[in-house]
Amino acid sequence: MTMNPTDTGQSPQRDMTSGSCAPTCLLVTVGCAKNEVDTDRMRALLVDSGFEETDSPVEADVIIVNTCSFLGVATQESVETVLELASISADEGHAHVIMCGCVPSRYGNELAGELPEVDAFVPADKEDRIVSVACDVLGIPLETTPHGSRVLRTIEGASAYVKISDGCDRWCTFCAIPAIRGSYASRPAEAILDEVRMLMEGGVREVVLIGQDTGVWGSDLEGDHDLAWLLLEVAREVRPYRGWVRVLYLQPEGMTDRLIGVLCDCPEVLPYIDIPIQHCVEHVLRDMGRSGSHDELASLFSRLRKEIPGLVLRTTGLVGFPGETEDDLEELCEFIEDVGFDYTSVFAYSAEEGTVAAKLPNQVTEDELTERAQRLQDVAERLGFASTARRMGGEFDVIIDGVEETDEGMELIGHAWFQAPDCDGAVHIESGEASVGDVVRCKIVDAFCYELVGVMVESHLGE
Ligand code: SF4
Repeated sequence: MTMNPTDTGQSPQRDMTSGSCAPTCLLVTVGCAKNEVDTDRMRALLVDSGFEETDSPVEADVIIVNTCSFLGVATQESVETVLELASISADEGHAHVIMCGCVPSRYGNELAGELPEVDAFVPADKEDRIVSVACDVLGIPLETTPHGSRVLRTIEGASAYVKISDGCDRWCTFCAIPAIRGSYASRPAEAILDEVRMLMEGGVREVVLIGQDTGVWGSDLEGDHDLAWLLLEVAREVRPYRGWVRVLYLQPEGMTDRLIGVLCDCPEVLPYIDIPIQHCVEHVLRDMGRSGSHDELASLFSRLRKEIPGLVLRTTGLVGFPGETEDDLEELCEFIEDVGFDYTSVFAYSAEEGTVAAKLPNQVTEDELTERAQRLQDVAERLGFASTARRMGGEFDVIIDGVEETDEGMELIGHAWFQAPDCDGAVHIESGEASVGDVVRCKIVDAFCYELVGVMVESHLGE
């Protein structure tokens, strides 16, 4: 959802008690893809109960901000977003403001005194009650009968994230997620598969399975289903549409033989693995509360490269954890280089309130954090740009995600199987005709940083 804070068009105050006019809601998300999915769920519940969506804070009756609190900067961005929208509404509109998600989960009752602009706070595990909270703040009766056709998900573009779990049981010492989102809870397979089916029927061509720790999906459910099984079931749903399925956020322990087998053998499951290692040095991993060692991680990645043809590897490195030395950082940089990760996200450690690591000695200074992050970022970019450039001259199926206006005119934009949507760059196609969701065959003729330029050699594959 793009908010439109410059829209100053006034709308008449609605008489919502008469039932003659649908209440309007503006939904804004701060944070990651997992949060986008949660916002989609709230959007579906609201629309299903008779709310109309608007992109204007001036026209909205209720403004709902789904917040992120993964890091201090994300909390700050969340609060600033709420205050900005509340101020626009106070000056030119009439909306009530609801703050949802991780910030209320993390800070609970403290917030009411500090943010009088907000009418209601809804923690992440209570978001299913959004309709009742919205009706409450608006002073309108709660609709119990759904309006019209059931909207399960707003579909934009040709790729969609599907959340398969929430929460996390690992309790890495630097991470506030388990405290914010609670224990690991797998989403039932039927709900996941229903959603995938609906998305594919609605024009989606790639589903990206996400969760804080996708590799342990199913371990808390009855029966013996695991992620490998789930991927095969999702593959069955996307197959008639020539669709793809990708899974993100696997922990090293989640790479079972069965999962490796599915990644090798099932054509719809992309041979793309995202394992956020965070670090490779044993004493840093122990202090982070994570298992494994340099040698174990090295042997895992070498096995994966050997067994899965054409594998693309993504990871995350966290630098500047308390007690990390210059030598440790050097070892991490060399490790990333040796494995040859195609894509690496780099985070500088941030001491998060309430975490074990925030109280550890030997915290790294801000200047040092920035310098260390830049050193790993340099390695990440060198590897990432080289991996992207290696695609030159190749021909790949590309899912069309949209059309963009450039200085040279309109161009199609899409992504190939080795690019996770919104993550790893895109393929830009300067000529040819196609619609969002089409799969076209492209020859790669140029590369810059993480971006590729393609020429369409075949359009509308599979139609
Ligand atoms: S596995 Fe990820 S979400 Fe879970 S505690 Fe560790 S860093 Fe946080």
